Amino acid sequence: MRKKLLAGNWKMNKLNAELSDYFEQFTKALRLNETQVKNQVDTLFAVPYLLLEKSASIAQKFGISIAAQNVHWEKSGAFTGEVSISMLKELRVQTTLIGHSERRQYFGETDETVTKKVKACLENGMTPIVCVGERREEREQGKTSQVVSRQMQAFLEVISSPGSLIVAYEPVWAIGTGLSATSDQAQEVHALIRDILSKKFGKGTADTIRILYGGSASPKNVDDLFTKPDIDGCLVGGASLKPDEFAAMVLAGR
Ligand code: PEP
Repeated sequence: MRKKLLAGNWKMNKLNAELSDYFEQFTKALRLNETQVKNQVDTLFAVPYLLLEKSASIAQKFGISIAAQNVHWEKSGAFTGEVSISMLKELRVQTTLIGHSERRQYFGETDETVTKKVKACLENGMTPIVCVGERREEREQGKTSQVVSRQMQAFLEVISSPGSLIVAYEPVWAIGTGLSATSDQAQEVHALIRDILSKKFGKGTADTIRILYGGSASPKNVDDLFTKPDIDGCLVGGASLKPDEFAAMVLAGR
């Protein structure tokens, strides 16, 4: 039985000055004490680097985890503007997104850099939430399975054990568009991802790995998404910026 994970992705939004209000409203909207939240569903926020420290000190009181949105694969060195795994760990951050489609689209992230990052994370005790997903034209050309398989195989090739790996299926055409994949479309790709994981690690291990759906997930479609056997949570952009909406989604995961 996989515990659901609701992961917010704040992208380049919010300021340190807004954090206390956000978490106060969020935890109030959950109307549950911190132990109950923790026992029933895992909650995480991937925030901008400069918000990590303060978010972690507030959120950890409620059993909520804080994650980064990216990390570099090298330990240290001449990589201006980059952040290392040990810098994140110094702030007690144990999880990071890897290969989000916005990083692939705007910042030159490739299957190759994703692979290096996933390997570095797993070798250094950092949980990677690896994002995969096809673009609109790829879906229209019937290439969804091919694209997602390629993205998965790239990093699976260099790891021998999944460790704490989490996968997020995020069809690019659904991100920030209000056009979510249907639960059937999402389940079809989640089943493919689980099958790829089974072939690599065996069914027993693949059954323990969480696969999140991301792409215009909201309180309106989350119940439907959660009826599907291979959807183990959501990676949520827009709706995670609103504490009431994100809290409603966390409650749907119980
Ligand atoms: C995301 O950025 O990972 C995402 C899924 O965004 P949204 O929920 O806004 O589509």
